[in-house]
Amino acid sequence: MFIKSLKLKGFKSFADETEIRFSKGINCIVGPNGCGKSNIVDALKWIVGDTSIKGMRASNIKDVIFKGSEGRRAARSAEVSITLIKDDLFTFSESEVELKRRIKSTGDSEFLINNRKVRLKDIQEFFASIGLGNRDYAFFEQGQIDRVLKMKPQERRLLIDEAAGITSFKEKKEETLQK
Ligand code: ATP
Ligand code: MG
Repeated sequence: MFIKSLKLKGFKSFADETEIRFSKGINCIVGPNGCGKSNIVDALKWIVGDTSIKGMRASNIKDVIFKGSEGRRAARSAEVSITLIKDDLFTFSESEVELKRRIKSTGDSEFLINNRKVRLKDIQEFFASIGLGNRDYAFFEQGQIDRVLKMKPQERRLLIDEAAGITSFKEKKEETLQK
């Protein structure tokens, strides 16, 4: 799998619709301080299903919506979509899949997979199924390498489970046992 593109509209500092195209392999985002590099990473985390306000570097869930600037009105909603290119890991028949997440200023959220309305849980499950759960290992931010090095063996095991794709099966098992 690889990310073909990420589209942001009204998300944080990206007032206008902006498409960021990625290529296979390592991609780098460079730019001066405050230009929005970390906002792009926030958008990736958000579309993968992050629900934490802290994860978005915000104090309110609606802070991801462009708040306006001089001569520019605030946006009514924030939208992020990601297009992924299929490989063997996909259970989808399409060669590309597009996932979209939208939040309105009223606080209402919407989630879509290939333009079909789904639940947040479906988006999270989709990413978990391709080994990109929004958990500990997928996004390594400042200070996180240190954290991993200082982990207890049991904690590190959870990280390895997640990276190996076992966690989603463990969760499904727990869910079934609870029913
Ligand atoms: P650095 O190199 O310092 O890490 P960066 O490129 O990562 O910078 P970001 O943190 O992505 O920069 O962007 C910060 C900018 O995004 C700030 O100017 C901030 O005001 C703006 N910003 C964040 N949230 C919003 C929002 N909801 N509406 C408008 N602008 C926003
Ligand atoms: Mg930054």
